[in-house]
Amino acid sequence: MDLRSLLRHDLEALEEYVPVKPLDVLAAEIGLPVERLVKLDANENLYGPHAEVLKAIQAAPFHIYPDPGQEALREAIARFVGVDAEHVVAGTGADDLIDLLIRLVMPKAVAIATPTFGMYRFLAKISRATPVEVPRRPNFDLDVVALRHAVHNGAGIVFLTSPNNPTGNPVNLAELDALCSLDALIVVDEAYVEFGGQSVVPLIAKHPNLVVLRTFSKWAGLAGLRVGYSISNPELARHMMSLKQPYNVNVAADAGARAAIAHWPEISETIACIVAERDRMAAKVAELGWLTPFPSQANFVLFAVEGRPAKDVAAALRSRGVLVRYYDRPDLANYIRISAGRPEDTDALLAALQAL
Ligand SMILES: *Cc1c(COP(=O)(O)O)cnc(C)c1O
Repeated sequence: MDLRSLLRHDLEALEEYVPVKPLDVLAAEIGLPVERLVKLDANENLYGPHAEVLKAIQAAPFHIYPDPGQEALREAIARFVGVDAEHVVAGTGADDLIDLLIRLVMPKAVAIATPTFGMYRFLAKISRATPVEVPRRPNFDLDVVALRHAVHNGAGIVFLTSPNNPTGNPVNLAELDALCSLDALIVVDEAYVEFGGQSVVPLIAKHPNLVVLRTFSKWAGLAGLRVGYSISNPELARHMMSLKQPYNVNVAADAGARAAIAHWPEISETIACIVAERDRMAAKVAELGWLTPFPSQANFVLFAVEGRPAKDVAAALRSRGVLVRYYDRPDLANYIRISAGRPEDTDALLAALQAL
């Protein structure tokens, strides 16, 4: 029996999403204890979750299935965002909602403003939608004309990220407003909006085809718990609710997310520290003279590397226990992206860079 004849024929052509390795695996590879690693490669919150959030997670009713209607969570998110709960859907991270939106539309193609987050492309291909990459302009602003073309040529969803990962720049509200008149679902991923940049949520009232995605992974330090949400037109939200897996948000994620919202005032002080550290890190790194920062509104900074391969810089930092992302591809040739951490993380980064 030929197993492959049972499986979908495009499976072989799917490139795997290459995730970052687990910390203990990395530490063993580098030969350093886990505590010595400075993890600035995945835009996580190195302060971790707030103590009260941890308590709430511990107290979650693990023996009971979660509420498929997400009543308490949607209500809490709605109050936090300043909309009605009928606009909100929660997911197993924003990634779950990207997948849900693609499956809701089943477009033959999706337009992706690159360079950007890799998950749109990966999830489009899983649903057999062709990812159409629409390169940003040299300053990483959107190419509105090319995006318009992509929709006219059949893209049923446009994925935009604001602030964008890995470039750190937000979308222009007037440009987005114009793009929303296109005959496509316009998805604005605001995974980093709590660190800066203006939210596009107010435009949802005007455009029923606009969806905003957010996550607790970055600002709330809950990347490992997997919880995010969408804000959209209520009709679209209803369809998303009916298509999602009933128990997509587990009870720990539900409790953690609601506690993070309840403790926003304290957590926002940590966010302010990260933003200040981002700016200090960018300025200090730029002083070295061979790394040029791109202005960022997120919790990371993209640097153009001059005079040496970005790949070698990342490898040399890694051997000193400092983890960063590098890019070496046509749309992002010779760059590194460094997440903003605590002051001690920046100090370790600077020491490692000076030792290169
Ligand atoms: C990190 C990231 C996400 C991931 O969100 P999850 O809620 O962890 O799935 C989504 N979008 C962008 C642009 C990101 O960088």
